Amino acid sequence: MKQKPPALFHDKNQEKVCGSESQYVRESFADKLLFHTVMYDSSDTIYFKDLQSHFVFCSRAHALGFNLCNPSEMIGKSDYDYFPKAFADKTFRDEQEIIRTGIPLINAVEKITMQNGKLRWYSASKYPLCDETGKTIGTWGTSRDITDLKRAEAALARANRKLREQSRIDDLSGIYNRKYFYEMLKKMEKKILRIANPTPKDTFSLIAIDIDHFKEINDTFGHLDGDNAIRHISILLQTLCRKGERVFRVGGDEYILLLPNTNLSMAKDAAERIRLSIEKSEFVLQGRACHPTASIGVACYDEQKELSRLIHTADMRLYQSKLEGRNKVT
Ligand code: GH3
Ligand code: MG
Repeated sequence: MKQKPPALFHDKNQEKVCGSESQYVRESFADKLLFHTVMYDSSDTIYFKDLQSHFVFCSRAHALGFNLCNPSEMIGKSDYDYFPKAFADKTFRDEQEIIRTGIPLINAVEKITMQNGKLRWYSASKYPLCDETGKTIGTWGTSRDITDLKRAEAALARANRKLREQSRIDDLSGIYNRKYFYEMLKKMEKKILRIANPTPKDTFSLIAIDIDHFKEINDTFGHLDGDNAIRHISILLQTLCRKGERVFRVGGDEYILLLPNTNLSMAKDAAERIRLSIEKSEFVLQGRACHPTASIGVACYDEQKELSRLIHTADMRLYQSKLEGRNKVT
């Protein structure tokens, strides 16, 4: 059941003269009715403060926010009585600034840890409060609890992050995919282009890898075990990446490693280490040991600054390794 309005608004005399012909009285009553309706029924909080930021009046919703049934209990109190000090300091500063400048603060997002330890978000607007002569006598403000909206926003951001992360992953192998390779390649180039005076360390290299005679695995063990072989090799390549390096599956049995701060000679050493590790690796399919090898091409951003040509250079060198008998780095 709806509660009775507080006495401050319940003016029986005004009610009696409501039917009078006096425009002034009718407007006055309408003003009071409107004021009462807003202050009593609005779910947004509304408050009025004096020049020292003490409450001179506040709406029912404002009082309910502090578990108080009667708004008049807040009169004479300030934010320091209800909020953590850091937050009360900030609202005090904001209000003093509004009093000083006359400029309102609109839709400021406030994050508050309440006394019960729970976090709440508000969208708050504060304005100068003026008397009939226009003199500033305090501030008034409204605030809306946007905690549910903020939670929904955070859940959406989490879901988006998850989706973005999933869109970077190759379904079969679980490692990064071709789309993410291009994304990271462009990012790496941007990072270098932003450096005003690049040093020889400010570069990166690509290692393109293609498994040798992979078709034979499919032909011998079938496509499903061929998929298992791709998973084995992908995990191996992932474990071979050092800090900051990333491996991407960019095609059927093709991979690219992206190595930041790595020149051509360092990348060739890394490629040789990877080639050897693949050669030494073993995985078992249908009870039989398989020993893969890979052909590798290396290219450095220093040699070719156009990204599609850089990839092409690594591919050409990989092809050269194939031509020269496979299980080789070029
Ligand atoms: P090469 O030494 O010249 O690289 O010979 P290759 O047999 O590895 O042939 P190539 O790299 O040209 O082709 C890769 C083969 O890998 C083609 C296809 O049969 C197989 N393949 C591509 N994608 C998949 C996949 O997702 N799963 C399986 N099981 N096989 C795949
Ligand atoms: Mg191959």
